[in-house]
Amino acid sequence: MAILEIVKHPAPILQQKCEEVVKFDKELGQLLDDMYETMVAADGVGLAAPQVGKAVRVAIVDMGEGQDVIEMVNPVVTAIGGSEIEVEGCLSFPGLYGEVERPYFVRVEAQERDGSLYEIEAEDYEARAILHEIDHLNGILFDSKIIRVVDPSEFEEEILDDEEGEVL
Ligand SMILES: [Zn+2]
Repeated sequence: MAILEIVKHPAPILQQKCEEVVKFDKELGQLLDDMYETMVAADGVGLAAPQVGKAVRVAIVDMGEGQDVIEMVNPVVTAIGGSEIEVEGCLSFPGLYGEVERPYFVRVEAQERDGSLYEIEAEDYEARAILHEIDHLNGILFDSKIIRVVDPSEFEEEILDDEEGEVL
């Protein structure tokens, strides 16, 4: 495994639509392993392949305490519901935090690293993280969705839950 360099904004690869994965080979497994190590090293809770310089439809999300990190290959959103405004950050935008409105609930169909299909449902911050990463695969960056920029000192002072202001 290897820790990869995280691509920072502005970089063209962050704004392009990523390619569908067609080969479920060792190389894909290696990319997912490296992305996991990179996300952990960067203290993030999600990471998309374009953020490590690969324009393919691959993303991972840490589903929180006691939960697995999910690997999403070719993810497709099949349902959304509700809406919530929370503070987000992004590993490709060091130091930038802002309030973003996203659905509260999401259902996604995706493939595992071996190509098998699965479906996952998530709510709240996990849904937010999944949608943030899928946006990356479509070249959509969170700064375009920020409705209010939040100074880091502001959310450090507020009493917020642990997940608030996590970087994706
Ligand atoms: Zn991001």
